[in-house]
Amino acid sequence: MLNMTNIKKIYRTDSIETHALREFNLQVDEGDFVAVTGPSGSGKTTFLNIAGLLETFDEGCFELDGVDISNQNDTARSRLRNQKIGFIFQSFNLIPDLNLFDNVDVPLRYRGFNRQERKKRIEQSLEMVGLAKRMRHLPAQLSGGQQQRVAIARALAGEPRFLLADEPTGNLDSSMAQSVMSLLKEINTNGTTIIMVTHDTELAAQAKRNIYVRDGKVSEITHSDQYAGDA
Ligand code: ADP
Ligand code: ADP
Repeated sequence: MLNMTNIKKIYRTDSIETHALREFNLQVDEGDFVAVTGPSGSGKTTFLNIAGLLETFDEGCFELDGVDISNQNDTARSRLRNQKIGFIFQSFNLIPDLNLFDNVDVPLRYRGFNRQERKKRIEQSLEMVGLAKRMRHLPAQLSGGQQQRVAIARALAGEPRFLLADEPTGNLDSSMAQSVMSLLKEINTNGTTIIMVTHDTELAAQAKRNIYVRDGKVSEITHSDQYAGDA
């Protein structure tokens, strides 16, 4: 359902060319939970941004749910992104002067859902992350782990098929990081495909597959022991 073949991505700034991805190959099937690890500067974020249709690429083939992305213009790409993809980041990117309810509402308004539908989705997704009782609170009234849960609720409210996470636990202490990871596993069990970039090898080991990126390429793929018994 996500299929990248020989993806090449070059950043050009001034006269300098950076080959961020070269011959990047990866297939991610529905229901997978992939952790992406690798050294700083190896191309992990670039991969995630291309997967999330935030960035274009120079060469290669990328199919998302059977759609050939290289044929899509900007408008088509943002429509696909809004329909299919949710994002979470290391910095939770919540709007500080909006309460939790309104933070989760932002992308739903953008997508034009009616008020009743938005309310239902907001309440369900805040319920899912255990913060329904605090929907009137401001982000600053929450711990970092709770703020990341709100960001997850905001991503889930759009009912994405893919959840893309860039260092989602990078600002959290280890117990909060584990609780966010447990939530992501639950979301994956409920059917959302997850791709997570992380430096945390303990968390990565809990995903279904580990993709190791080096020098802009996938250099190794391992299946987690935990899921080794699965068909
Ligand atoms: P990682 O996420 O593994 O740390 P990145 O994907 O962020 O790696 O970066 C891969 C390479 O591309 C690095 O050399 C980085 O400096 C470069 N790069 C990333 N984004 C840009 C950009 N917007 N402009 C120029 N170079 C970039
Ligand atoms: P608007 O007038 O922009 O459509 P609403 O009338 O939907 O906004 O909501 C007004 C305020 O009430 C919002 O700031 C939101 O925080 C809050 N709110 C709306 N619905 C709920 C709800 N079910 N639970 C908690 N707060 C809510």
